[in-house]
Amino acid sequence: MDKQPKMIVGVDLGGTKIATGLLDASGRMLARSQKATAGLKSSEEVIQAIVDTITEVSGEYEIAGVGLASPGAVDTRRGIIRNGVNLPGWNGISLQAELEKRLQVPAKLINDANAAAWGEYVYGAGRGAQSMVYVTLSTGIGSGLVLDGKLYLGTSSFAGELGHTVVNPNGALCGCGQRGCWETYASGTAIARQASEAAAAAAEGMTQMTALAEAEGVPLSAKHVFQAAAMNDKLAQETLEQVIHYTGLGLMNIIHSFNPDCIVIGGGVSRAGAAFFEPLRGKTGELVMEPYRGTYAIKPAELKDDVGIIGAAALFVE
Ligand SMILES: [Zn+2]
Repeated sequence: MDKQPKMIVGVDLGGTKIATGLLDASGRMLARSQKATAGLKSSEEVIQAIVDTITEVSGEYEIAGVGLASPGAVDTRRGIIRNGVNLPGWNGISLQAELEKRLQVPAKLINDANAAAWGEYVYGAGRGAQSMVYVTLSTGIGSGLVLDGKLYLGTSSFAGELGHTVVNPNGALCGCGQRGCWETYASGTAIARQASEAAAAAAEGMTQMTALAEAEGVPLSAKHVFQAAAMNDKLAQETLEQVIHYTGLGLMNIIHSFNPDCIVIGGGVSRAGAAFFEPLRGKTGELVMEPYRGTYAIKPAELKDDVGIIGAAALFVE
């Protein structure tokens, strides 16, 4: 008699919520649970909340493993979160051991960008690739490396902080302390900042970009820059040209470093679609050395908001 197939659980531990899903081996999400982290006062309460969401989605199913994604420095080999989520008493806790003890199933911890990379490789835009680099352009730039079919973690599991590779040593100050990191030019936050600077320096001080933001009553964001550029706003188009240039430089560094056949781009900026991807493909093709041309594809991410859950669960897919 066939045994019921085992399910896998993915947990996305964020700064504001714990989101947990039950997946089958094909990556289909069968159940989902979510808990806010506000009000949790100790690491014990946080761990209990994680366990509760897992118990809730698991139901009667047998679980093959629990993958958990967290922002920040996650030491995958030792199963601890070094720093990351802003939760009480959290740093240095052996979360993997705690989950395994309480749930009696194998558990793995992973950085959220690495989870997204692995999720896209197993179930998303990177399916079938040999080597894939995942880049998320959101408030910052996160990335993850799948090299020759394996998630590459590095000595301390901290590999893939490509957002903090420097593209301009005289550039803007980055949160990490360096100047001109890639993410100071190509993250969503950076696009908005460059647009605001351009608008402030313009003679009229007002452009279609600022008008769109004001009409919505929200701060200028990357979305408005793309909208205004589509309406032929010159300042928006110039801003995007610079963003595309620096994004292309970042991709050039990736291509020259890792020779991937696939680069998957996620995050809010990737939702701009062809208006972003077409000029980016053109610019990157100009920047890379000749032998690399035609060796890689640049694709938008396929997994959406649940990429952290799906990618963490996919750690248990062979
Ligand atoms: Zn930096």
